[in-house]
Order: sequence, then C-alpha cells, then structure tokens
Amino acid sequence: MEKAPAKINLSLDVLHKREDGFHEVEMVMTTIDLADRIELEYLEEDKIVLEAESRYVPNDERNLAYLAARKMKERFDIREGVYITLTKHVPVAAGLAGGSSDAAAVLRGMARLFELDTTPEELAEIGAEIGSDVSFCVHGGTAFATGRGEQIEEIPAPPPCWIVLAKPPIGVSTKTIYQSLKVEEAYHPDTRAMIRALEEGDYEGMCQYIGNTLEEVTVKQYPEVAQLKEHMLQAGADASLMSGSGPTVFSLVDQDVKARRIYNHLKGFCEEVYMVRLLGTKETLD
Ligand code: ATP
Repeated sequence: MEKAPAKINLSLDVLHKREDGFHEVEMVMTTIDLADRIELEYLEEDKIVLEAESRYVPNDERNLAYLAARKMKERFDIREGVYITLTKHVPVAAGLAGGSSDAAAVLRGMARLFELDTTPEELAEIGAEIGSDVSFCVHGGTAFATGRGEQIEEIPAPPPCWIVLAKPPIGVSTKTIYQSLKVEEAYHPDTRAMIRALEEGDYEGMCQYIGNTLEEVTVKQYPEVAQLKEHMLQAGADASLMSGSGPTVFSLVDQDVKARRIYNHLKGFCEEVYMVRLLGTKETLD
C-alpha cells in the first residue's frame, strides 16, 4: 500500500509568466497527514485498470494515477499490467495536490512492484511530465520548489504543530486562477524569510511569513475563502492561509486544545474540516 499525502504551501510566490506559458514560481511546500491510499497489484495481462473509489475522480486516462502508470510502462518497457485501487481521502480540486500525490504514489509503487532500477530523482523527472507538483510529491517532506514547481530542494521540516484545514463546497481550477492573475500588481510573500524560519525552527517566524500570491485572486472570485480565513483567525489560529490555488484554507496552531476548538468551531458551518499533523520529514512517508 502506498500513502499519497496532501501538501500545503507555507509560501507560494509567482514571479512571472514564462514564454512556454507556465508561471515561474517559488514555493515552500510540506506534506501533511491527510492522505489517499493506493494499492497496486500485478497483472499478467498488458493493461492498466484503475478502480477509484470516489465519484469525484475519473477511472480512465484523465486520472493522474492512471497517467502515471502509463508513463512508467512506457519508460521502463513493462509488458505486464497493473490493477490500481485508489481510495480518496484528500478533497478534490482543493489546492492540496491530491491528484499529483496519487500520481507520485503510483510512480513509487510501480518502481517497487516491478523491482525497477531507478531513483527518486528519475521518478520525479517522470512526474514532472504529468504535472508540476508531482516531483515534490515523489520526494515528500518539506521542500523549496522553483521553476514551474518541479525543481525541488529539500529544506528543514517545520516545527511540530497542528494543521486545521477547511474546504468550502466549491472546486477551483488552478488554470483559471493563474489566468486571472496579474503578476505585476500581485502581492509577493517573503519566501526567503520563511525558509530562514524553518532553518531556525522558529514557529513564530513561520506564522509571520506564510503567504500566497494566488490568495487574493481566488478570494476575488470566491469571497467565502476570505470568510473562512477570518473565522479561523477569530477562533484563535496562530496563522491562516489558502493553500495552492485554493479553495482550502489551513491554520497553524501550536496547541492541541486550541486546534480542537478551531476544528469544532468550523464544523458548525463547514462540512469538510480536518485536523492533522505535519508529516514533515521524508522518513515518515515509508
Ligand atoms: P493542485 O494543488 O496541484 O493544483 P488540486 O488539489 O487543486 O491540485 P486535484 O485534486 O489534484 O487538484 O485535482 C484537480 C483536477 O484533476 C480535478 O478536476 C480532477 O478531476 C482531476 N484529477 C485527475 N486525477 C485525479 C486524482 N487522482 N485525484 C484527484 N483529482 C484528479
């Protein structure tokens, strides 16, 4: 069984639009203990079967997990097949990279199932062909991501804390948010200061420097994101931010009691609320 954990962005800065149409970004990403589950079984027949136990995701090549299996078969010339069972727990189209993490889990899982001679770096490179966040998801842990998000440098894990997440009942298309972004007028978080805070294990610094260029763009289209953030801060969150292109909002909370209070408060008016720990380091993925 492969765990496919969600990520949050502690910092997400968009620098400019590139000639190839992608945006140049600088992000600090970390994995959290909210994960999909992926089972891979060997098939003698040369085919990919995907059983996604969720009505929100497709069962064919539109699913990033399916795409990942196809890429692996092509790259390593695998003539047998694979039966993939995907159990979704991470909300879909939420800014948590659920699909990317499923793809990464299939890359890791196929390497194991077929005993392939490969490295995480090679899997991350294959992942980048599927989506910009897949490379990070192959490694997990905490990273500084640059380029279009596929250049990964491991950095120290955040100090331990609780993460309370809430997702309003809307799906946000990452593409649409990037299309609406005016980079020259946008807010830019201090990503270097965030990295310094992590290096120093400075929880207050981490709370001070969280920031996301895309937040104001999504908020303009979905004001409920700002409301959710306000609710979290009022309920006592140490810091609160939208993840990725949204609409999920997360809070950093250093005390168990406080995190539970925020969780219960949000449960009053939002259906999808989670209280989880950071996964932090790579080792915890195994
Ligand atoms: P990101 O933060 O990387 O932009 P996200 O969390 O906003 O990702 P996902 O949940 O990864 O978004 O999915 C976005 C879209 O991708 C959905 O429209 C969904 O149909 C499609 N998709 C394809 N495969 C998957 C998958 N395995 N899990 C979830 N969504 C998937």
